[in-house]
Amino acid sequence: MSEKNKPRSVACPTCNKPVPWSEASPWRPFCSERCRLIDLGEWLGEEKRIAGEPLPPTPEEWTD
Ligand SMILES: [Zn+2]
Repeated sequence: MSEKNKPRSVACPTCNKPVPWSEASPWRPFCSERCRLIDLGEWLGEEKRIAGEPLPPTPEEWTD
């Protein structure tokens, strides 16, 4: 394995900015704490929406 020459970086899931995959990036795979919190907030918001507003079953999904 010769990973030494490989640029190890990932795209921030929130803003798509390249993030170096190293100890220098404590928030990886996010580029910053802000992006991490944004992503977490969206995820939690989605969970809350699902829990708070139960959707009625879709008749099309029913099989008799
Ligand atoms: Zn970011």
